[in-house]
Amino acid sequence: MCYWQVLFQYFEQHYSHPLFLFHVTIDGTPNSPSLPANKQASIDNMGYGLINKCILTWNDPDALVWPEDKLWFLLVTPTDETSGEWTTFFNGSKFKGYPTLTAWVGGSEAADAETRSDDQIANKVMNNLIAMFPTIGAPDDIVITRWGQDENVLGAHSFPVAGRDFADDASNLQQNVGNVYFAGEATSSSDWATTTGAWDTGEEAALAMAQQLTAGV
Ligand SMILES: Cc1cc2nc3c(=O)[nH]c(=O)nc-3n(C[C@H](O)[C@H](O)[C@H](O)COP(=O)(O)OP(=O)(O)OC[C@H]3O[C@@H](n4cnc5c(N)ncnc54)[C@H](O)[C@@H]3O)c2cc1C
Repeated sequence: MCYWQVLFQYFEQHYSHPLFLFHVTIDGTPNSPSLPANKQASIDNMGYGLINKCILTWNDPDALVWPEDKLWFLLVTPTDETSGEWTTFFNGSKFKGYPTLTAWVGGSEAADAETRSDDQIANKVMNNLIAMFPTIGAPDDIVITRWGQDENVLGAHSFPVAGRDFADDASNLQQNVGNVYFAGEATSSSDWATTTGAWDTGEEAALAMAQQLTAGV
């Protein structure tokens, strides 16, 4: 008897309407049960990408030496090789109420960044900022994400892989297995990689569960 069957049997013995909702990112399947072959194939073959952030904050309001009303700054570096390394900045200062810049990195550069120390990343980010705003001072606080190393996340979002039909994969992933329901951005064929996809598929799964619970009542 597999894990699923044990789980179902337990809940069938204890509850009249056993239902489950599993959130799924394509890296994070429920622990050990064997899944239908098409669902497992989609999990194994869908793309899962990486984004990381380096968030810098300053306590002193006068530290804000960049255009206050501009949301994004993009640094174009002289060589192609470095043009994606922490060269995109979001200016969230007016939302936070104090000087705040968030540096972004994605794809292979994000994976490479995770092998660097905090100091190496901070130096790289500050060098890029100084290239745009020479009078910028050292931040008071720095937060660096390493989503690829978080065991419950292992990346940032799903993406279509050449040669595969993403809508088919997302549909396979969303398919319930008996009373086990699935949701999450990777199960959305229209809004994958976004919180919208995560939210909408969660609602769809919750509604399907509610319908099953009330069926025949
Ligand atoms: C740096 C970055 C920037 C982004 N920017 C945007 C943006 O601007 N706009 C946008 O729409 N989207 C953005 N995204 C994508 C968005 O965050 C995701 O698409 C969305 O959070 C996915 O939601 P989810 O519920 O599918 O998965 P998640 O948010 O990953 O939630 C999964 C949850 O399951 C938990 N979990 C995993 N495994 C287990 C387990 N075995 N047991 C228990 N719990 C487990 C995890 O801890 C986590 O809490 C960004 C993502 C990143 C990383």
